[in-house]
Amino acid sequence: MAEGQDVFARARGRTVRGFRQDEEYQWKAPFYFIQGADPQFGLMKAWAIGDCGSGGDEWEEEIKLTEQAVQAINKLNPKPKFFVLCGDLIHGMPGTQWRKDQERDLKNILKKVDQDIPLVFVSGNHDIGNAPTPETIDDYCKHWGDDYFSFWIGGVFFLVLNTQLYFNSSKCPELKQAQDEWLDGQLAIAEKQKCKHVIVFQHIPLFVKDPDEDHDYFNLEKSVRHKIMEKFQKAGIKAVFSGHCHKNAGGFYKGLEMVVSSAIGCQLGEDTHGLRVVIVTEEDIVHRYYSLNELSNQGIGKDLLDLLVKQN
Ligand SMILES: [Zn+2]
Repeated sequence: MAEGQDVFARARGRTVRGFRQDEEYQWKAPFYFIQGADPQFGLMKAWAIGDCGSGGDEWEEEIKLTEQAVQAINKLNPKPKFFVLCGDLIHGMPGTQWRKDQERDLKNILKKVDQDIPLVFVSGNHDIGNAPTPETIDDYCKHWGDDYFSFWIGGVFFLVLNTQLYFNSSKCPELKQAQDEWLDGQLAIAEKQKCKHVIVFQHIPLFVKDPDEDHDYFNLEKSVRHKIMEKFQKAGIKAVFSGHCHKNAGGFYKGLEMVVSSAIGCQLGEDTHGLRVVIVTEEDIVHRYYSLNELSNQGIGKDLLDLLVKQN
């Protein structure tokens, strides 16, 4: 595929090709984007047979769900500014058997996303491994673009982070340090610039419900989490969107909202397969999770659409 046509690796050089910073620096008007998480091709079968490690040799269900998600997004009017997928694109960990096939099938579906709706990818633990290495990260970047980067849309500054570097960087300490240094530079820009909002995308949430909850598989280690939350808060970041939990959750740390979105694929809570609609107005970031059925049948609620029109 020619370089310019590769819709899967637009994130290069720590920014996103096609999003012109010089044009997107200023606030224009309210807009919205779609957030999805964890299509994770293969988990539904693996979960059903109770073998998350090496199960997952079929992903027909996830194919259907992701196709439904793409169709729902393509029907939306007006179009979202972009579609961000917050990690665990596939279930097969680096080096496992079905990974290539899962990646191929996912890409074939995502190719059908309206060309006017750019795709933004976030790396998850299944994409680069629970303890990533320079090789697994490099492999991810070849397929899906940079693992961390930033971009501007209409006066709003977006940061995409690789949370595996906070979860376990034992096999790639120098990469963790590089992201830390980059992030500090980006947060300094966020503090200095007159952006309307700063929004972060990452796979593992800082916390699931409570900023002081104990550390487990589904959140970041407490001292790491508090350091990041303080940095984010100081830089004026309003919201962090994540996946990883396969259920909807979230909470607040001071003025910082942590939003955990359920999965397009396998559900581990009471939610249904879905996507989150995020409306960005001059004052607010308003979001709502929609089941795939609801979004494809009824579209975005009028109350949310009114927020887009009001200030235009
Ligand atoms: Zn995950």
